[in-house]
Amino acid sequence: MSKGTRIVLLGRQGSGKGTQCVRLSRHYVVPHISTGDMLRASVRENSALGRGVAEVIDSGRLVGDDLIVELVRERLGKADARRRGFLLDGFPRTVTQAEALDDIANESPLNAVIDLVVPREMVLERLSARRVCRDCGANYQAGPVVASPWICDTCGGDVVLRDDDTPESINRRLDLYETQTAPLIEYYGASGRLFPVNGVGSPDQVFERITTVIDSR
Ligand code: AMP
Repeated sequence: MSKGTRIVLLGRQGSGKGTQCVRLSRHYVVPHISTGDMLRASVRENSALGRGVAEVIDSGRLVGDDLIVELVRERLGKADARRRGFLLDGFPRTVTQAEALDDIANESPLNAVIDLVVPREMVLERLSARRVCRDCGANYQAGPVVASPWICDTCGGDVVLRDDDTPESINRRLDLYETQTAPLIEYYGASGRLFPVNGVGSPDQVFERITTVIDSR
């Protein structure tokens, strides 16, 4: 591991985390590493990994810690992350993963862990309207009329409804967040690395709040 900006963004599904990550990664010129995007790419490629995790992802459960930790270890070992740092989105999701990340990032500890705080009631509506670019991960909100095909403004990829954005899967993921991911707040809080940021507001307002925290580190 090496230098650069090393940020973890925590937050419920639908908190606007993905949108902020795309923007933050451009702003700080660091790779946006989304474990969800990596897993979905492996499903699309129909790789051995993809075949093993597709059903778990669609049902809204978590894939195993060992598997995801290895995926992240390998990704953080690549030249861009070693040189520039990283912005982690969707990882860690359990305390076991957070401990593994501390071990991987051992020589270059995290600069900050941002917790994007948005109440559960608010995210349900947003998630049902969420559409995501298959290629770059940009997030959009669908209005009453949905373009078909919908082409991403950023990269020209297909903008689609995620297979796991069904009401059952959304609710399961939100429940999982409470039980497995919320303890991370305690884990990072206890070591003084946690910075809660109010995620309610316009994307510009939230971006400003996050960069103020990161720049103060
Ligand atoms: P996301 O795009 O972050 O919402 O992730 C989509 C799905 O991928 C999750 O619901 C999990 O099934 C799986 N996933 C992504 N990141 C992780 C992780 N850190 N640990 C376990 N499963 C993950």
